[in-house]
Amino acid sequence: MPKTLIYLAHDNLNRHKGALKDADPKKHEVIFVESYRMLTGARWHRQRLFFLLSAARHFAESLRKEGFTVHYEKASDTATGIRKISKNYSEVVAAAPSSYRLTKSLSDIGVKFVPNDFFLTSRESFAKWASSQKSLKMENFYRFQRERLDILMEDGKPVGGQWNFDEDNRLPPPKLGHSWPEYPEHQRDEIDLEVIAEIASLDLVGNLTDGTWGTTRDAALAQLDRFLRRSFVEFGPYEDAMTTESWALNHSLLSTYMNVGLITADEIVAEALKRFKKGGVPIASCEGFIRQVIGWREYINGLYWFFGSEYRDLNELGSTRKLLPLFSDCSKTKMRCVSEIVSQIEDRSWVHHIPRLMVLSNLAALAEVRPAEFLAWMREVFIDATDWVMVPNVIGMSLHADGGKMSTKPYVAGGAYISRMSNYCGDCAYNPKTRTEDDSCPFTTLYWHYIARNSERFKKNHRMFQQLSGLKKLSDLDETIKRGNEVIKGLEEGRI
Ligand SMILES: Cc1cc2nc3c(=O)[nH]c(=O)nc-3n(C[C@H](O)[C@H](O)[C@H](O)COP(=O)(O)OP(=O)(O)OC[C@H]3O[C@@H](n4cnc5c(N)ncnc54)[C@H](O)[C@@H]3O)c2cc1C
Ligand code: SF4
Repeated sequence: MPKTLIYLAHDNLNRHKGALKDADPKKHEVIFVESYRMLTGARWHRQRLFFLLSAARHFAESLRKEGFTVHYEKASDTATGIRKISKNYSEVVAAAPSSYRLTKSLSDIGVKFVPNDFFLTSRESFAKWASSQKSLKMENFYRFQRERLDILMEDGKPVGGQWNFDEDNRLPPPKLGHSWPEYPEHQRDEIDLEVIAEIASLDLVGNLTDGTWGTTRDAALAQLDRFLRRSFVEFGPYEDAMTTESWALNHSLLSTYMNVGLITADEIVAEALKRFKKGGVPIASCEGFIRQVIGWREYINGLYWFFGSEYRDLNELGSTRKLLPLFSDCSKTKMRCVSEIVSQIEDRSWVHHIPRLMVLSNLAALAEVRPAEFLAWMREVFIDATDWVMVPNVIGMSLHADGGKMSTKPYVAGGAYISRMSNYCGDCAYNPKTRTEDDSCPFTTLYWHYIARNSERFKKNHRMFQQLSGLKKLSDLDETIKRGNEVIKGLEEGRI
């Protein structure tokens, strides 16, 4: 009797989810495909490629130890790799893929899909919620999730009497310094070293010098444990802070592991709630973290499927500038915030959500970088990047390239925001308080340049009323626009 072949994508590394859930070594064999497209399709960050390959190879090894026959094929693309051996099996099954591209290429060769249960919310359930809403506010989805999943609820009401504790959170980093938790150093094993040697000759970017990222489920569990012991208590207050004193602050670093399946959202939520029940963790920190996992993460995945495959190509503000040189080389800017953050990405392939949103994407939006180019860069350099998560975060939330389908208001800000939420500005060559001088903060100048450029469009948006009123009050608008044009030229030439 021919066996069933299970295709495992590099983000399905979990024995209890997807196509492996009920698999039996006597009835199933497993195939992974390492495609040349995956290796050479872009100039990936070294840590990203290393992590994806090594995590898959470690997981393949764990399945072999359990008795599965595992095929690890190298091929030009995934479909070709599967076709090489699929004729020997009764059928090929896989979890419904996490991107449109893979869904198409696997459907084209007749792979049968089982539900993708790596998320807490099915695509159908999200679509049902979204279709019943006037606007797609994350906060409303989050409340729906809390009630539906019965998380942090007591007698039908939110624990602590509020849904959201944002006003207790979002503190800047303490001015007098702070003791931030240390983050792990993972030891490299034989499989890791083999992958490092294999990718050494590829045309990649970034450094692969430290042990920031582990490549096994044990490493993911250790990271969760470390987060709950050392960072959970203060997760809320410093969620949005940026500081040169710590690269991760109290963030969990779990997206990397979650996005490949080594650990899942349900496990993380269960452990976080268990820790909260023990006491000593403020509700603002617990709620803040739970909101990220059951709210933001699920909302973003739901929107990726709800908006459809064309959403990634939207460019409603008509931005056409090429990617600025400072994104790929931190020496191409004197802006301290940007150079610090790009240099952190070069070292670790990761920064937390505020540098991604309020520094990198903010700059790309203000400087009118073409959304598709910025999206491609973000996908290449972040360790936790996948299509479902990058597309809505970049096209919708960050660049407003969807014209407001996701967020009614663009997330753009001048230097005052970065100055308030970080310690970057003190030693910067620029001054966040001015907009027309040679040393004015480029964010501050370009913020007003952006509002002025888009003022006709924003007139129809009542949430932009305050910004447009501010614009009308600027007595130096002409000089600001002139300086803005100089700043954009300087950014293009890598000398701002
Ligand atoms: C422009 C932009 C690009 C982003 N790209 C990615 C990406 O490629 N991959 C990715 O996993 N996250 C992405 N995010 C979301 C967020 O920045 C990361 O999930 C987070 O920084 C990961 O670090 P952490 O695990 O320490 O998160 P924590 O701060 O500890 O948060 C806990 C978890 O919440 C989830 N989460 C929080 N916000 C989001 C969000 N907006 N979208 C999806 N999940 C969220 C993540 O799974 C994260 O692990 C992006 C955000 C922005 C603004
Ligand atoms: S002054 Fe402007 S460019 Fe410099 S660190 Fe502050 S926000 Fe960034």
